[in-house]
Amino acid sequence: MDFYSHIKNEDPDVYAAIEGEEKREREGIELIPSENYVSLAVREAMSSVLTNKYSEGYPGKRYYGGQEFTDQVETIAIERAKQLFGAAYANVQPLGGANANIAAYMALMEPGDTILGMDLSHGGHLTHGHPVTYISKVFRFVRYGMKNVETGEIDYEALRQTALTEKPKVILAGFSAYPRELDWQKISDIAKEVGAYAVADVAHIAGLIAGGAAKNPFDYGFDVLTTTTHKTLRGPRGGMILTTGGGDQARAEEIAKKIDKAVFPGLQGGPHMHQIAAKAIAFREALQPSFKTYAHQIVKNTAAMAEVFKTHNVRMITGGTDNHLILADVFGSLGISGGEAEKLLDQAGITLNKNAIADDTRKPMDPSGIRFGTPAITTRGFNETDCAQVAELMVEILTKRDDATVSNARAAIHELAVSHPVPETFV
Ligand SMILES: *Cc1c(COP(=O)(O)O)cnc(C)c1O
Repeated sequence: MDFYSHIKNEDPDVYAAIEGEEKREREGIELIPSENYVSLAVREAMSSVLTNKYSEGYPGKRYYGGQEFTDQVETIAIERAKQLFGAAYANVQPLGGANANIAAYMALMEPGDTILGMDLSHGGHLTHGHPVTYISKVFRFVRYGMKNVETGEIDYEALRQTALTEKPKVILAGFSAYPRELDWQKISDIAKEVGAYAVADVAHIAGLIAGGAAKNPFDYGFDVLTTTTHKTLRGPRGGMILTTGGGDQARAEEIAKKIDKAVFPGLQGGPHMHQIAAKAIAFREALQPSFKTYAHQIVKNTAAMAEVFKTHNVRMITGGTDNHLILADVFGSLGISGGEAEKLLDQAGITLNKNAIADDTRKPMDPSGIRFGTPAITTRGFNETDCAQVAELMVEILTKRDDATVSNARAAIHELAVSHPVPETFV
C-alpha cells in the first residue's frame, strides 16, 4: 500500500509537495553532512498514534493519565540511548539539537554566567552563542579557535588561558563544520582545572561515536553530551542530552536532575512521543553490528573524496578530514564563490551547502567555502570508488562551469543515484 494513500486522496496539494521531495531525495545526491535517510520503521513510528498523546513529565511521573504505553516507549528510548553512548542518564525529550543545547545551558548555568565555546567561524554552531540567537543575550559567550587553519589544530593553550581568566561555568566542545577530531582529554582536563562542566555537542558526529568510528567524549571525563538524533545517528529529527558526571555517580545524578528540570518544565511542553518512539527504533538500529560498518564506511568515503580534492589542489580547511565532512575553499582554489558553487552543483543534482571558512574575507551570504559529507550517500551504499567519482564530477563542474559539463555530470549523478536506492531497513 502506498505510504501516503490518505494524503493522496484527501490533500493533493500537500501530496504533490511530498512526492516532489521523494523524487528529489531519490534521484539526486545528498551531500549535506547533517542529513541522512531514515528507515521505514522510523518513519512509521513518526506517523504513529503516539502523536495524539500528552505526556508532560517523565516515565512514572506524568501530569496526565493514560501513560502505560508512553512510559514504555520513553523508557526503552532512554535505556538504549544510555547503552549507545555509555551514559548514566539520558533525557530523550529535546525536540531538536538547539533545544538540547539550550536546556543543557539552563541546567548548568544561571543567566549571566560565562560559557567558553568554539569560535563560530571555526566550526561552532549557531546555538553556541551566535549574536542572532536569544540565548546569546542570556549567557556570556567567550571563544576559542584553531591555532592553525591548515592543520585544524585547536589552540589548546589559548583555550586554557581564556578558561583561567574568564572562569566559565561550562566549556563547550563541538562543531558543525570542523573536519577533525578534538582532543577531548585536553579540554576535559582544562574544565577540571577551572571547575567548569565539560559539555560536548556531538550533534554531527553522534553516529560516528555510536558506531565506534570517532572517540566518545565520555571516555575522556566529559560530564554532559548533547546531540541531535537525525544527523549521522540516522534517527528522526530530534535531540537528546546524556550525562555520566565525568564518571562520578553522585555528580551524574545531580546533573541529570537539573537537566530533566531544564527540559521540562524549564524549556519545553509536552514531549513528542511519536518522535521518542522513532528515536528508540533508531537507537536499536544503531546498536546493530551493521551500524559499526556504516559509521566506518562514512569515514572511508569522506577520505576518498578528500583524496580527489587534494589531487586537484583544492584547498581544504584543516588540510583534509578525519570524520564525515569536508570544508573546501572553492573561492581561494577555483575562483568560484561558495554560493555560486552550491547553485552550479545543484543543477547537476548534487545538494550541499555554501559555508564560511575560517577567517573568511567574503560575506556570510556568499562565503568562500562549501561544506559537504557522506553520511546520506553511505546509507545508500556508496563505496570509496563511487565517492571518488562524485568528487571528480564536482571538481570538473566547478572548474569548467559550462552547460555541457553540467549536463553530462547531471546524467552521471542521476545514474549513480538510481543505481543506489534508499534502503527501507537497516537491521
Ligand atoms: C545541527 C546542530 C545543532 C542543532 O540541531 P537542530 O536539530 O537543527 O536544532 C546543534 N549543534 C550542532 C553542533 C549542530 O551541528
